[in-house]
Amino acid sequence: MTGAEIRLLISTGSIERFYNDRKWRNLSKKIKRRDNNECQMCKRRGRYSKAQNVHHIKELKDYPEFAYEEENLESLCISCHNEEHPEKLEKFKKKEPKFMNEERW
Ligand SMILES: [Zn+2]
Ligand SMILES: [Zn+2]
Repeated sequence: MTGAEIRLLISTGSIERFYNDRKWRNLSKKIKRRDNNECQMCKRRGRYSKAQNVHHIKELKDYPEFAYEEENLESLCISCHNEEHPEKLEKFKKKEPKFMNEERW
């Protein structure tokens, strides 16, 4: 998927197609392996948590051209990932708490 395609998905509200795409699925597995399946934020804080999501350090919506850049990706646990996306947390709290377990952002 190109940056332009990703932008289009964002603007049409169908970004889950990016996350469901095989290229992303394979890459996110690779990143978790690279990070030893460990949350990198917890690690920096001297703690250990299992990685559950792969996060775009430069946000996908702002930098879709970095979507597949390994340096722009890091493995996070769900609670650290939520800290990185406070605005989404608010939204999801209201309607779909189970969403938090999926790799959607
Ligand atoms: Zn963490
Ligand atoms: Zn993220």
